[in-house]
Amino acid sequence: MVQMQNLHKYFGENEVLQGIDISVAKSEVVAVIGPSGSGKSTLLRCVNYLEEPTEGEIFIEGNLLNVKGMRRKEFQRHLNRIRTKVGMVFQQFNLFPHMTVLENVIEAPVHVLKKPRKQAEKAAEEILEKVGMLEKRDAYPKTLSGGQKQRVAIARALAMEPDIMLFDEATSALDPELVGEVLKTMEDLAKEGMTMIVVTHEMDFARRVADRVVFIAEGKIVEQGKPEKIFAEPDEERTKQFLGTFI
Ligand code: ATP
Ligand code: MG
Repeated sequence: MVQMQNLHKYFGENEVLQGIDISVAKSEVVAVIGPSGSGKSTLLRCVNYLEEPTEGEIFIEGNLLNVKGMRRKEFQRHLNRIRTKVGMVFQQFNLFPHMTVLENVIEAPVHVLKKPRKQAEKAAEEILEKVGMLEKRDAYPKTLSGGQKQRVAIARALAMEPDIMLFDEATSALDPELVGEVLKTMEDLAKEGMTMIVVTHEMDFARRVADRVVFIAEGKIVEQGKPEKIFAEPDEERTKQFLGTFI
């Protein structure tokens, strides 16, 4: 579903990703963990080309994302086509403040996918139901709690019918009592078979929901494996050290 091969990213002299290889299979949930500044967000941002990889390849469903040598307009079309397949949810909710919940969710399906409005609304209602936000369809974002906003952000990404969802610390900005409802929504999604890459500090979530945990430090994969293995008996000292900070 997604392959990153020998991915490198420089910001100036700073090599933030130092040769990352990750393959994510269909319906697989991969949790990416690691210290602050290790390159987790940059990695996710490369997957939908919010950052341009300096070197290496990214394939989404077999299509090379970072094609070289295309004309600008052609490349933009190529990107747009692939990006509709990739949903992303950030720490900050980024909802459109002047639009209701429903309007937020149908915005991209109507304007990007050119879905008829009625059809988009019907699909949006089903998705809002799924994330437990249907009651709030006519509410404005400022009247919602952080957890509710984040569930709408998830609904908005799902409305594009993505094949893969990327989560970048989707619960980090939430008050502790609101974290659970968002994690529950993500877990439901995983159970339905969504392919997911989840950058998270929620180790319980990673342990319970992820099929595989990838530990990154200083732009390199230190180790990866099943959660049972990584959390109970990691091979690397660096991993032990990092996980130790969560106990
Ligand atoms: P955190 O857990 O704090 O979110 P992270 O693992 O997501 O950290 P990144 O945000 O990917 O880390 O950042 C990795 C490194 O890249 C950091 O040193 C950061 O300062 C640097 N960096 C990230 N984005 C940029 C940018 N746009 N320009 C320059 N440097 C950047
Ligand atoms: Mg980050």
